[in-house]
Amino acid sequence: MTARIREFLRTRRPDGPCLVVDLDVVREKYMSFAKAMPDTRVFYAVKANPAPEVLALLAEMGSCFDTASVAEVEMALAAGATPDRVSYGNTIKKERDIARAFELGVRLYAVDCEAEVEKVARAAPGSKVFCRILSDGAGAEWPLSKKFGCVPEMAPRVLEHAHRLGLEAYGVSFHVGSQQRDTGAWDAAVASAAGIFREMADRGIHLRMVNLGGGFPTRYLKNVPAVQAYAQAISDAILTHFGNHVPETIIEPGRGMVGSAGIIKTEVVLISKKSDDDEVRWVYLDIGKFGGLAETMDEAIRYPIKTARDGDEMSACVLAGPTCDSADVLYEKDPYLLPVSLEIGDEVLIEGTGAYTTTYSAVAFNGFAPLKSYVI
Ligand SMILES: *Cc1c(COP(=O)(O)O)cnc(C)c1O
Repeated sequence: MTARIREFLRTRRPDGPCLVVDLDVVREKYMSFAKAMPDTRVFYAVKANPAPEVLALLAEMGSCFDTASVAEVEMALAAGATPDRVSYGNTIKKERDIARAFELGVRLYAVDCEAEVEKVARAAPGSKVFCRILSDGAGAEWPLSKKFGCVPEMAPRVLEHAHRLGLEAYGVSFHVGSQQRDTGAWDAAVASAAGIFREMADRGIHLRMVNLGGGFPTRYLKNVPAVQAYAQAISDAILTHFGNHVPETIIEPGRGMVGSAGIIKTEVVLISKKSDDDEVRWVYLDIGKFGGLAETMDEAIRYPIKTARDGDEMSACVLAGPTCDSADVLYEKDPYLLPVSLEIGDEVLIEGTGAYTTTYSAVAFNGFAPLKSYVI
């Protein structure tokens, strides 16, 4: 909780659930990435929080942007980024969207198979492409599974295909899983990238860039390593696997840039028990999985929750949202400790919610409005 957010909530008293984002925190985070990794370009992952004020601040500070759709490309440009600072990092793109991004000036694209290379070659001729490789996401609280990337052994073929079709085979990317608390998670992926660079050099094609992806964490309930510790581990990995041939590097922080900048204000709608001898109270808030807290899926992300009664005795609660969908339960397998004195109507603050909340909120499920956002 920052003093600015506290003051905003106290004086503005916004009605209904809302996210409040403090731009000072985003500014600090950007500076800590830039300072810890001075030779690495930062491509902010727009999907984490595309609020125009956040994008404009980052554009002004010199950030580049990782986008996944034409709409995100347009948002980055509208925020003041020039197209040479925008990458189209989604490996799954319609050819006509690639063509539109190309028209807008974007010249850097992600691919993970030959069919996608062919689309880029036709719709964005001469552009730079990087090949995404699979990562198992071990150690991450929100792993990205096998949906994106090819096995490292396949990458040289994909990149050589790009080269043959007149694209610039530019580099390799990976994502070690979101909310990655293990600073050592980059090592194996950097080793794979170095192997691909060598294999390509043998084929006469010289790659230049390693895209180290996102994964940098937000502090929720558990402590996380500082950005500096990630920077050190990554720099060690690059030195180990690339030796003196240090490649260009970029990072794509999303959660690590904006997560800790935001707080959701919510209200207790109901507290009840399912039977007289039920030991666990059910606490229903006016926001749930469909109001922006989708990352509580499988109870993966456990947010810090604050109330005005936190000094009181605590007891276990099932925490749920307000909609008529039985999936709209936040924490049940591992119940959440909340004050016994908590009452209907109490304000509850959910911390670390600056990333992946507004963008996940449903349009109007059960008529509940999408999550409101104030950027201060
Ligand atoms: C979502 C995403 C990111 C951001 O990941 P975080 O873990 O939030 O930092 C970065 N790169 C790509 C390609 C992504 O899809």
